[in-house]
Amino acid sequence: MLNFKSSNFILITKRLLLQNCFLCGSDSNQLLCTACLSDLPYQTSTCYNCAKPLKTGNLCKQCQQNLPPYTRVQAVFSYVYPVNKLISVAKFKENLPVLNLLGSLMVKYLQIETRPDILIPIPLHPKRLRQRGYNQSLELTKYISKHTGIPLSYNSCQRIKNTRPQVGLSTSKRATNIQDAFKVNKIKKNWQYIILIDDVMTTGSTVEALTKEFLKAGIKRVDVWCCARR
Ligand SMILES: [Zn+2]
Ligand SMILES: [Zn+2]
Repeated sequence: MLNFKSSNFILITKRLLLQNCFLCGSDSNQLLCTACLSDLPYQTSTCYNCAKPLKTGNLCKQCQQNLPPYTRVQAVFSYVYPVNKLISVAKFKENLPVLNLLGSLMVKYLQIETRPDILIPIPLHPKRLRQRGYNQSLELTKYISKHTGIPLSYNSCQRIKNTRPQVGLSTSKRATNIQDAFKVNKIKKNWQYIILIDDVMTTGSTVEALTKEFLKAGIKRVDVWCCARR
């Protein structure tokens, strides 16, 4: 007969279920411990149009002067530590648990004012996709679609120009770099309101370029959901 007390068994099972918090290393039954999760740099007061941090009012100066083509941008986080680290791990190390955690926080914090017709991930150029192995925006979109029931489409548009990475470019260079980078292939007749999904939004030139293509193709309203905003 096994001399194995049930209390030992419970202890061992508990031990197996515990993991270390990905950020601080303390015992946690989730990827991030409660303290690290609540300390993340959640965005609070932001511009309605572009999600830049804002002290008062609804629109930032830039959007007041020059309204962007997209209607509303929502971002869960500011792109600072440790969110930049989490996104980089998700993006370049194909860490799906981290990506799914970010997706779950997007589902929790992004507001659905009106239900959009479709979710669309920002496409990668096929060459970049081959190099990286997967598109982090598509993975985020899959998670959000699964947990909100809003359908997704990943072949309605494509990246036809393999642009150099936007990192390190000035705002005007980014806009030129991304010009004519996207092509809208097909949209369904009943799509009026779509959401573009990306991991990080910086100057907004990427989503702006893609938004313009969708508006040209007949979409009435384009919003953007991103995990973090620089
Ligand atoms: Zn922690
Ligand atoms: Zn703005």
